[in-house]
Amino acid sequence: MLTFVPDPVLLGSPRGREWPVLPGGRPAPGGNPPRTADVVVVGAGPAGLAVASALWHHGIHDVVLVDRSGRPCHRFFGRVDLLGQRVLRSPYEHHPGVEGYRDCELLDFARLHWGLLTPVERREIRMAQAGHRSVVPVDVFDAYCGHLASSHHVAEKTWRGVVREILPAADAVTVRTDRFGVTARCVVLCLGEERRDAPEHWWGGGFPPPSVSYWDQKLPAYGERLVVVGAGLTAAHLIGGGLAAGKQVHWVIRETGERYQCADVNSTFFRPEGRARFDGVDWDDRLDLLRRYRHASIMFEFRPELARAEAEGRLVVHRGEAITKVAPGAGGTAVLRMEGGGRVTGDHVVLALGTTPSIGTGLLPGELVGERDGWPELDGRTMAYARAPRVFAVGAAAGMVLGPAARNIDGHRVATARVAAAVAASVRHGAGRAEFAPAPGRAVARV
Ligand SMILES: Cc1cc2nc3c(=O)[nH]c(=O)nc-3n(C[C@H](O)[C@H](O)[C@H](O)COP(=O)(O)OP(=O)(O)OC[C@H]3O[C@@H](n4cnc5c(N)ncnc54)[C@H](O)[C@@H]3O)c2cc1C
Repeated sequence: MLTFVPDPVLLGSPRGREWPVLPGGRPAPGGNPPRTADVVVVGAGPAGLAVASALWHHGIHDVVLVDRSGRPCHRFFGRVDLLGQRVLRSPYEHHPGVEGYRDCELLDFARLHWGLLTPVERREIRMAQAGHRSVVPVDVFDAYCGHLASSHHVAEKTWRGVVREILPAADAVTVRTDRFGVTARCVVLCLGEERRDAPEHWWGGGFPPPSVSYWDQKLPAYGERLVVVGAGLTAAHLIGGGLAAGKQVHWVIRETGERYQCADVNSTFFRPEGRARFDGVDWDDRLDLLRRYRHASIMFEFRPELARAEAEGRLVVHRGEAITKVAPGAGGTAVLRMEGGGRVTGDHVVLALGTTPSIGTGLLPGELVGERDGWPELDGRTMAYARAPRVFAVGAAAGMVLGPAARNIDGHRVATARVAAAVAASVRHGAGRAEFAPAPGRAVARV
């Protein structure tokens, strides 16, 4: 059998090039947004950007985006850069641009900037054009997101705020943040995913012990030995970073072997026939499909370097090891105790245990989320919450409707097409803004 091993050189795409920018990308002015809008989008990551861009094509321009950072895609690129990730897993066809409208897609954008690309990046574009697997530089994706934000006037509608509460009423929804409130005809939740914390029994819950951190925190300076826990691409980047810094790395994975794949999701789920497997099957069968077809995995390009490092003893892989306890060790080290009785000690331990979809719990009243097995109850045609029809979800939260690809950039675009059409219809056919009703018993837009 042939084993596919693409060239690791792909992983080293440059970051931080100067890209030409369109006028119109200015951020929202200081102060607070208007107290009413047609649509509020909560979360301005790739999913929120896709939604706002699609609404622009539908002629819905009275949109307020609220994000913790106040900047489109800030969390996504912050996470990626912290790990030193230089290429996306998604191919050129997966992008947050708008489906069904003549727009500049990611591949068009990359070709337009041919002169800024390296020979390796150009070869990947030719691969994409020929229909082969290809790899997208984070730098190109970042510039493309900036282009989308400018060309669809998203940046100037994005406001900094932490959403605390979402209160649906009969003909409007009020979004309350730490700084302001906005009442809108419809609200789209694009909340993304939070990092998965360690099980409570590892150290009793709360903050990790000294010398232990999570993948989305800055790595402190540490001694000679780094321990990485996790089986996914994030773990691979952390290992790569440790090896590049000349450290000895120990890698702990619960599974009996690491998995090298293009994506965590079987590629059929990115296509309509894969999504159709979800339509018409019941809840338990969907859970089963999610369990069987989404797995933590590592891009093929890492394989040669990780195999070489293991053969040379710079990387020690602890396969099939379940952690039972994490505790401080002598001299500022951290010790992992394993189910089989073994121990792994490191000068620093970093946990990359995955992420959990944010489904609106804690923002919407619990009974409106309808949470079951960690998923909200959504209408599959419109992605609206079944019990709050003016509130919609795009991104990871749509996993039980769209299948495992919902958690990837391509899934955001598919969900966006459905949501934008439903929201546009609701805004056009709904009552005028003067008739907006605040949620019962609550003040609208209290600052
Ligand atoms: C390191 C890394 C690499 C990845 N690489 C890929 C890849 O190559 N291809 C791919 O398809 N997917 C990739 N993913 C998955 C990726 O996270 C998603 O595809 C994408 O970021 C999700 O976009 P999003 O907008 O749903 O979420 P996010 O990018 O997380 O955006 C959600 C936003 O909502 C904000 N928010 C949440 N709650 C609130 C609140 N209460 N108030 C205000 N703001 C709030 C957050 O701060 C955040 O800015 C990667 C994920 C990680 C972590």
